Amino acid sequence: MTPEFDAPEGGYFEHWMEALEELDRALPERARPACPNCGRRELRAQYIGDPEDRIGYGAIWCDHCHWGAYTGRAEIPPAADLLPFGVSDDVVRTRVPSFREDLASARRRRHRGIRGRDRRGAGRTMSSPPWFGS
Ligand SMILES: [Zn+2]
Repeated sequence: MTPEFDAPEGGYFEHWMEALEELDRALPERARPACPNCGRRELRAQYIGDPEDRIGYGAIWCDHCHWGAYTGRAEIPPAADLLPFGVSDDVVRTRVPSFREDLASARRRRHRGIRGRDRRGAGRTMSSPPWFGS
């Protein structure tokens, strides 16, 4: 994937999802896709979901620029690490740092009917993942 540096601030939602797929495909190896926002290869991802059916949500973010995106409801790859629903806020925060979410990602999530504590706007600093506690 080639980052587009004329992309809107935060990068394109589709590129975040492509990067997440690249990470997932490489498991258990660690792929190094470029950040859709800054181009650095410091992306990280974390899934949270049901350990039984492995349905949940994914977060992908950049350790360098602290932008990122959340998936809608998603199948969690067998090799991907998963935090179970209901895990404490503290645990989630140790695994998923605050990051700014690209605009399209926030819109997409809303369209998919994902419940969140705060559906307003985007590009804000998230104190916790929007799917936590929903
Ligand atoms: Zn970045």
